[in-house]
Amino acid sequence: MSHDPNCIFCKIIEGKIPSRKLYEDDDLLAFHDISPWAPVHFLIVPKIHVVSLYDVSAEHQALLGKMLSLAPELARQEGALNGFRCVINNGQDGGQEVSHLHLHVMGGARPWARG
Ligand code: 5GP
Ligand code: ZN
Repeated sequence: MSHDPNCIFCKIIEGKIPSRKLYEDDDLLAFHDISPWAPVHFLIVPKIHVVSLYDVSAEHQALLGKMLSLAPELARQEGALNGFRCVINNGQDGGQEVSHLHLHVMGGARPWARG
């Protein structure tokens, strides 16, 4: 399924739920996390509905590379110049709350709220 009508991030991608967007192209959307742990905290998501890394295969390799390589560019743009963290939570034991693959990018001056 490339789109899930019940998925909150699919709704953000469609513009049905507002978000503070940082970046958008044909494949990816980046937007600020609604409840940030760090001064800089945004999410990079694929526009297609992929639940988690459990669901990726060889066809997604370019997309995953694009997500990771966008992270430092946007981190810099948002002022995280002294380091940043990338996290992907997968499944229940991985602490994933939203079932649409997303890369957390966190940075900025410490202390952070979490992590
Ligand atoms: P997870 O625990 O699934 O890795 O992270 C989900 C993240 O999505 C959380 O950090 C949460 O704050 C963020 N989030 C959940 N709902 C929304 C929303 O409607 N808008 C935005 N911008 N972020 C959201
Ligand atoms: Zn989705």
